[in-house]
Amino acid sequence: MNEIVGIDLGTTNSLIGVMDAGFPILIADQNGARLTPSVVHFLADGEPLIGQPAMRVRALKPAQTIYSVKRFVGLRGDELRDGDADVSYNLERRTGQPIRILTSGRSYSPEEISALILAKLKTDADAALGHPVSRAVITVPAYFNDAQRNATKRAGELAGFSVERIVNEPTAAALAYGLDKLKSRSKIAVFDLGGGTFDISILELNNGVFEVLSTNGNTRLGGDDLDNVLMAHLRAKGFPAADPESIARLRDVAIDAKHRLSTAESVAIEVPFLEGGGNFHAELTRDELERLSRPIIERTRAHCLRSLADAKLTAPDLDEVILVGGMTRMPLVRRIVAEVFGREPHTSQNPDEAVAIGATIQAGILSGAVRDVVLLDVTPLSLGIETFGGLMNVIIPRNSTIPIKAGEMFTTAVNQQRSMSIKVLQGEREMARDNWPLGQFEIEFEAAPKGRARVGVQFEIDANGILQVLARDTKTGAEKIVEINSAVDVSDESVEAMISESLEHAFDDMSERVWTETKLKAEEMLNAVEAAFAQVGDGIEPAEKENILRAATQVRESLKTHDVRKLQTANASLDEATQGLAAAIVEKAIRTGS
Ligand code: AMP
Repeated sequence: MNEIVGIDLGTTNSLIGVMDAGFPILIADQNGARLTPSVVHFLADGEPLIGQPAMRVRALKPAQTIYSVKRFVGLRGDELRDGDADVSYNLERRTGQPIRILTSGRSYSPEEISALILAKLKTDADAALGHPVSRAVITVPAYFNDAQRNATKRAGELAGFSVERIVNEPTAAALAYGLDKLKSRSKIAVFDLGGGTFDISILELNNGVFEVLSTNGNTRLGGDDLDNVLMAHLRAKGFPAADPESIARLRDVAIDAKHRLSTAESVAIEVPFLEGGGNFHAELTRDELERLSRPIIERTRAHCLRSLADAKLTAPDLDEVILVGGMTRMPLVRRIVAEVFGREPHTSQNPDEAVAIGATIQAGILSGAVRDVVLLDVTPLSLGIETFGGLMNVIIPRNSTIPIKAGEMFTTAVNQQRSMSIKVLQGEREMARDNWPLGQFEIEFEAAPKGRARVGVQFEIDANGILQVLARDTKTGAEKIVEINSAVDVSDESVEAMISESLEHAFDDMSERVWTETKLKAEEMLNAVEAAFAQVGDGIEPAEKENILRAATQVRESLKTHDVRKLQTANASLDEATQGLAAAIVEKAIRTGS
């Protein structure tokens, strides 16, 4: 069977679909439900319950019931913010080590838990279609880094799928929305606020081609944050929540109230039979909920504005704003979106299903069931390597359309150097140390005088957003290819933090880069003068020699000051003073034929 399924592996819910007679169809389980809660409960004997049955026991067995696992996929212990660890089950968080989930006397990787959810979806699809499916397209938030994408792919493989493509969620949503609008040329914003993540993407639809112009967002902003605030509010109103069971119960109550307040102006909350025998009763109004939620929802605004700026657009340039993610059912979210973009958002798609529908269409494109649609995606952060002086050398800039291949030639800084260390970095800062290390490897080559050896470094990002780095000694052709795919190799702070840090430090970073470059030039010239004196020193006029030595001293002195202007002037004087020396060297070389 050449068919491919599309899967939205969500923080809160997951869905699976398949193309049927040219239409994307979401598959229901035996109970007729298309939405599978992304929840896994482990029974006493270790058997997993997945989806709705797990959801049902979550309040009773919080320590054995795993939810929101997507927050931990591909992350190391030290990459997790404290608030994110606020779950009712135990996590193992060790610095430099992938996060693990500890439950029922066992330890699981987040991928293993995701794989159980994916396997459940696969079983539903197998049953609905009457034959096994083995190929899948899976969606991820646009800001997932390589490690998180790879971990998602691994989860798919663990579940028995061959993962044909990893697609950004907003891109999938746009695909769901855009099929009937393919003729027109339009720009749309996809505002996706789900349980755990927020993504905003600006896309251009042009005669069957989708291009992502920019993406922004926060991998740790969503309905879960709102649930936490609402839980605290209900606690303050007297909900007794001391033990894990009642905390889990409180969460269910809070979520239920939040959902009901999307349509009702006020709701009554009644919880009987609490620990200790009491009941809980409270009224909650939409106003109250909105007052609590506003600071959280407002955080989406800056991301939207940045995304517009990155796409070099203003709100009126957009033809449509579409909503994705369960949280966009909330009236406050819709109001804030309308305010930011100056237009009412489009709500024709079911916000819970748009991503899965898009994933299914993408699967259809790959299997040949859908034709004439091409998807282009972009890199969320710049990728590069560290070069001399600890500088970041960008090879693929942020927001480049993928798949992409780009390269650059590098040379050696030291005589007879036999190897070069390639440090692969992701981020927007000027100095290598401020960016995230994705991996490191050595390329060896034949020893040669400094500057003679040439190493070509090429970055290739495939359609899944997975990065392959190739380094080649251009003389011997010896090469090394490294796939950046291990979760432990990636140090990931949030992309949001990276971008705002880069803006905050832009001035200092730039001064440091200019200083480093000027310093490298100074050091190079001083070395060259020394080498030249050794070679042709005797043949230089004493006055000229003194002139050069004076200029060289000036450079050395300026190097100590950290004053970039002074060093630039000293460099220029030394350059000027050595003109004759350079000519003498060339002349000698011609005479001796060396
Ligand atoms: P998703 O990750 O897209 O499945 O979105 C799930 C998030 O949307 C969760 O935080 C849900 O509580 C929230 N959500 C779902 N339905 C509603 C609703 N009717 N009103 C408000 N929030 C909702």
